[in-house]
Amino acid sequence: MESSGDLVEIRAFVAQHNPSKSRIFALVQNSEHSSGFLTLEAVATVSDPSRADELCAALNQYIYDRDEAQGFAPRLRAALDGEPESINAAMHQILDRIKRSGAVHRDHLVKTISPFGSFPLSACPPAGCAACGECADSCKDCVVCDEFDPDLECECSVYMPPRTASLIHAMAETYCDTVHDLAEAIPSGIPLKPHDDLWPIPEAAWWQSRDFYRKFARAFEDIARDIENGQEPDPHNMAEEIALHLVLDAAAGIVADEMPELELFTGGMPRSHFDFDFDLLHDVLYQDKDYEVAYLGNLSIAKPGDLEEWFEDFQTPAPRDPERGFRR
Ligand SMILES: [Zn+2]
Ligand SMILES: [Zn+2]
Repeated sequence: MESSGDLVEIRAFVAQHNPSKSRIFALVQNSEHSSGFLTLEAVATVSDPSRADELCAALNQYIYDRDEAQGFAPRLRAALDGEPESINAAMHQILDRIKRSGAVHRDHLVKTISPFGSFPLSACPPAGCAACGECADSCKDCVVCDEFDPDLECECSVYMPPRTASLIHAMAETYCDTVHDLAEAIPSGIPLKPHDDLWPIPEAAWWQSRDFYRKFARAFEDIARDIENGQEPDPHNMAEEIALHLVLDAAAGIVADEMPELELFTGGMPRSHFDFDFDLLHDVLYQDKDYEVAYLGNLSIAKPGDLEEWFEDFQTPAPRDPERGFRR
């Protein structure tokens, strides 16, 4: 029954592993069941767990972004390299079905399954890039990508591959909790003198009210939610810029020191040549760096109420929903 395929929409791909093999499932939704009835449908079986994860991540990227999916074709090709023809055929069948089904919104369900699957490993063009050649394996081990030569235009770089997104997300969540904990320990009235050490909050903000710290905690939360929505962090005000700065520094420290958190938060995710370029992230994620001189370099402690500028929304992007509340 060919036509019944149109009623069933693919929402996401998940991998299930057991000691002898890994299976890739499509999570499908039957549009006749408006309640959101979901079932698993087996797509393919592969022997290598990391390959199954990578295939799922690539397919999830394709579901979200379709033709916009940067570097998708070479990424899929690399993931299928050396696999039997039957898996190749199964993948192309499933791609045809994705193309036929309606657009998928990044709904909550998809986010919970694979919050980082929609971030690209590279932007390698489908036919390879003029500098790198064939862009083997999404340029994962490419030496040309590292060469700085203005005449050699490499088109492959991305700034937020899945492992980078995952690590930044994890640190944003961690700091969100830390700052909420600090806020809870502070009395609700106007403080008479600066608090004791409030690390990781910048020293300039060590004399504010509990309400201030709750709002600052939410700045970390908003950054984490951006990433869960498959988007790069998009600071809406100075508080979010400062929060993102602290998160990028924490993530960079974990990578530089090869701390156990690195494996904890990124293990099992597909590697990218462009992972962990924090300098580049500082360049692309900020409109300006005014906050840095004003509040990170300056160690004088502001008086209570003097930092409301932190929470004034920029002209763009459009403000976040004021009713979004606090996660805790
Ligand atoms: Zn490339
Ligand atoms: Zn390359």
